[in-house]
Amino acid sequence: MIPYGKHNISQEDIDAVVEVLQNGWLTQGPKVQDFEKILSEYVGAEHAVAANSATSCLHVACLALGVGEVDIVWTSPNSFVASSNAALYCGADVDFVDISSKTFNMCTKALEAKLVEAKAQNKLPKVVIPVHIAGQSCNMQRIKELADEYGFKIIEDASHCIGGSYQDKKIGSCEFSDICVFSFHPVKIITTGEGGMATTNDAELKKKMDMFRSHGITRDVEESDGPWYYEQQELGYNYRITDLQCALGVSQMKRLDEFITKRHELAKRYDEELSGLPLKTPFQRSDAYSAYHLYIIQLDDAANRREVFEGLREAEIFAQIHYIPIHTQPYYQGLGFKKGDFPVAEDYYSRAISLPLFPGLTEAEQTKVIETLKGLL
Ligand SMILES: *Cc1c(COP(=O)(O)O)cnc(C)c1O
Repeated sequence: MIPYGKHNISQEDIDAVVEVLQNGWLTQGPKVQDFEKILSEYVGAEHAVAANSATSCLHVACLALGVGEVDIVWTSPNSFVASSNAALYCGADVDFVDISSKTFNMCTKALEAKLVEAKAQNKLPKVVIPVHIAGQSCNMQRIKELADEYGFKIIEDASHCIGGSYQDKKIGSCEFSDICVFSFHPVKIITTGEGGMATTNDAELKKKMDMFRSHGITRDVEESDGPWYYEQQELGYNYRITDLQCALGVSQMKRLDEFITKRHELAKRYDEELSGLPLKTPFQRSDAYSAYHLYIIQLDDAANRREVFEGLREAEIFAQIHYIPIHTQPYYQGLGFKKGDFPVAEDYYSRAISLPLFPGLTEAEQTKVIETLKGLL
């Protein structure tokens, strides 16, 4: 069986975790800060907050930016449900901005048009969450210009994107955003089992995210009863990540660039071998270097999608579909969204297939994927 994504664990990774088990703190110890430091230095951000998932990071990011019941948050319909659920956890209203038919990321023209309309109705978003689909950056420069003009904050959902860059800066540098969030679920680029990280250049946001991650508690207080003293200043959560996981994360970071290079090599081979078939291979922006979390093809004929997907399954190739547009999920239909609301995302979904792409994919396995696809088309 060939999965669409798979983690890659080395003996060094195993040794790093065992070393914590034998000698270290299991949680709230120094490995958490080590992981935050190595990642923030890698991406070029001042601060980082590690948590038990990217979903938790998105939630604390929204909370730190003050998202509450009176607020509106916009994201891309072409994402995992966590991108918008995080705003719903805060009691905010969620809406979506349709995607570009070229990049499958949030369309900045659609964003601008929606902002003009929202301003007229006095319903501007407090936060916009662009999602870097498949590991390729959104047009962040334009989104930031619109943020300055319309006064919203930006959280990048970079769950697919650790190791990628945009305009020669690493994703996560927050050059064009307030906060950037990564995921370390095993199918993502590097893993901690479950886990996530939020980066920022704003010390105040870092402090707030730290607090919301751990019960709303801080030891950084104006007046103290003594060395034992802490204060709960907000209603926070237990979203902490363990030292075991962070030891794995630190170890995985050492191979991050290697992983990305391998993903690019595999993607290049797909590009070459699949050209000429009735499908589109992924468009690459000239100002971005993708982390290539996913290799998403678009079939020319959507009517073939199911047959192709099932044909791959029969050949033991577990392709995936990313993503069912969030607004078409029953829960979101219950919030008033309808099929047809974001037609580009829906058309994209009907043609999309994510082919296997991960550093351990062998040449023979990739050949099998390519040949099976050629046979089916
Ligand atoms: C994986 C993913 C998430 C959630 O990440 P977790 O670490 O599993 O919580 C959020 N957004 C996107 C786009 C994702 O792919």
